[in-house]
Amino acid sequence: MKKTDVVIVGSGCSGLYCALQLPRDKQILMITKSQAENSDSFLAQGGMCMLKNEEDYESYFEDTLRAGHYENDKKSVEIMIRSSQDVVSDLESYGACFQKDAQGNLMFTREGAHSQKRILFHEDVTGKEITSKLLEQVRKLPNVTIVENTRMLDIIRHDGQCCGIIAEKSDHSIEEIIAEVTVMATGGIGGLYQHSTNFRHLTGDALAIALRHKVELENINYIQIHPTTLYADETRSFLISESVRGEGAKLYDKHMNRFVDELLPRDVLTEAILKQMEKDGTDYVWEDLRTIPEKELQEHFPNIVEHCRKMGYDVTKECIPVVPAQHYFMGGVKVDYNSRTSLERLYAVGETACNGVHGRNRLASNSLLESLVFAKRAAKAIGSSYFCGNETITEAAGTVNLQDYRDVEALEKSYQKQVKDEIERVNKRKEIG
Ligand SMILES: Cc1cc2nc3c(=O)[nH]c(=O)nc-3n(C[C@H](O)[C@H](O)[C@H](O)COP(=O)(O)OP(=O)(O)OC[C@H]3O[C@@H](n4cnc5c(N)ncnc54)[C@H](O)[C@@H]3O)c2cc1C
Repeated sequence: MKKTDVVIVGSGCSGLYCALQLPRDKQILMITKSQAENSDSFLAQGGMCMLKNEEDYESYFEDTLRAGHYENDKKSVEIMIRSSQDVVSDLESYGACFQKDAQGNLMFTREGAHSQKRILFHEDVTGKEITSKLLEQVRKLPNVTIVENTRMLDIIRHDGQCCGIIAEKSDHSIEEIIAEVTVMATGGIGGLYQHSTNFRHLTGDALAIALRHKVELENINYIQIHPTTLYADETRSFLISESVRGEGAKLYDKHMNRFVDELLPRDVLTEAILKQMEKDGTDYVWEDLRTIPEKELQEHFPNIVEHCRKMGYDVTKECIPVVPAQHYFMGGVKVDYNSRTSLERLYAVGETACNGVHGRNRLASNSLLESLVFAKRAAKAIGSSYFCGNETITEAAGTVNLQDYRDVEALEKSYQKQVKDEIERVNKRKEIG
């Protein structure tokens, strides 16, 4: 059995930033299912939104709501937009670099459903730039221990409070981790789908655990399909970032004719592509990046150019086949504006949490920002609320029978089934309603 002040589950941008923002005199244990770098945060290509200036506030707010079909929680949206400059300045202080012009001003790009350019970027590897710098900072902290290849199997619920977690370690032994506060930062659910841009090990474990303990969930049937991933034989679908379309890339049907406005919101564009594929009897449509000047293509999107080259396509000379794939999860464990779940001492941040920012459909490049803003708020709320000694936490130690977790494979299968069933159940209920 281990004891710590805070246990954070997940080493993506939300878990790392939360660790950095927690009080330095608290012991923090961060566990992560794979290696620390294997998170979707490292894969984010396009960039991160930021409020450029006061004049853009109304339009940024409206774009977020329009993309979300006006189902967004307006206060969450306001918090996210208003906190964006503070987050960017934190990131820069950690060493993250964003594209700047010759005068040293930040440069912005555009993606679908944005009425203007407001997305910060670092080539086409913005997520890696941000998350690697966060990880570097966390690794320097003496109060944080990162344990890799260790997965959360359950939370420890005792007397109506969350008192830590049960984890499977890399040697397959099962351990009880007692903590004053638990933060779930376990990312999305792409691993549940055959075609997804996510890491395969992201299977919505926090959702299954929440279901098991009747912790409230929200909008768990709100799943975003990305319209354009490379049609190729790969375990993880490779994203052709929306900012490529923002910079002028075009979509063609089988006759090489344009059939849609490429900058429509993701869900609407996905529907149009699927319809076109059905009409054409094809498994993909074509995307043309040759409409972007070659110099810009090489400088802004080197990762995409290189990946396509590896897969046999020279994007400067030919079109590439693209197809929609599961990409992002708007729903999740229901949280308040400080990322508190319905269970005392349990927090959820990042893609696994739902604070209502995205409504029914996420606006491109709002997710890194949302993850960071609400992870910081969680850290501040945790820092000011707990750690004054709690008997329930001490009593919880040894109350769980670890033998119940021996068959991890069966547990994992049943968790995945429970999440899929719940998504289906909510979908059906909405259809009937
Ligand atoms: C290809 C791609 C491109 C993207 N591009 C953009 C973009 O341009 N802009 C943007 O804003 N967003 C983008 N996104 C979305 C964004 O990257 C994610 O929403 C965000 O990074 C989520 O961060 P997170 O910290 O919540 O989760 P993640 O970064 O996914 O981290 C989840 C962590 O939880 C761990 N974990 C999961 N289950 C367990 C368990 N049971 N036990 C222990 N650990 C566990 C994982 O190992 C991982 O460390 C993109 C996503 C993808 C996949």
